[in-house]
Amino acid sequence: MSSPRKNHLTGSDMPADSADRPTREEAEAAVRVLLRWAGDDPRREGLLDTPARVVRSYEEFFAGYAQNPHDILARTFSEVQGYDEMIVLKDIRFESYCEHHMVPIIGRAHVAYLPNKRVVGISKLARLVDAFAKRLQIQEKMTAQIADTLDEVLQPLGVGVILEAAHQCMSTRGVHKAGVAMVTSRMLGSFRDDPSTRREFLAIVGQSSAFSVTNT
Ligand SMILES: [Zn+2]
Repeated sequence: MSSPRKNHLTGSDMPADSADRPTREEAEAAVRVLLRWAGDDPRREGLLDTPARVVRSYEEFFAGYAQNPHDILARTFSEVQGYDEMIVLKDIRFESYCEHHMVPIIGRAHVAYLPNKRVVGISKLARLVDAFAKRLQIQEKMTAQIADTLDEVLQPLGVGVILEAAHQCMSTRGVHKAGVAMVTSRMLGSFRDDPSTRREFLAIVGQSSAFSVTNT
């Protein structure tokens, strides 16, 4: 096994090359092993197509590995009529997967920046969240990745990112605590240094129902 290299764009461990990637058949065989490990019989009728479905699901769950977050933000606009106020996209629902248990983390992201003459299309902020969510994650790392990428590519005056999420590894196993949300944040530039900017961001985000994520 060759060791993974650090992807300098995302900081994530990517496979060294595509030759290391197992084939679809190998992935389906692995699912059959897990079905047997769970105590079931992969040869019974109801489970015959399950390995193929699981592998196709993984292609959706982990689509972020094929995306370059920097590219998502590459196209910027400078004709903003002197607009220099905070831009906030709040309540971006995301579905991610805990890298320790491979079960869902479901929540919402609030992403803001103070532009420095350049802005991106607002949907790009949602796509940026998805590019990092659709991977195996821990919430702290995902929060930092979103904020740092926005900061590196747009070079704005400041960036604020808050994630609120329910972790199924806490609700369906382990301590079995449902109804709790984990909140993480990363503030850069003016969001870190200027209390009034940070307050404005928190006030905008606070208008959303902060803990509704625990009902997803
Ligand atoms: Zn977990």
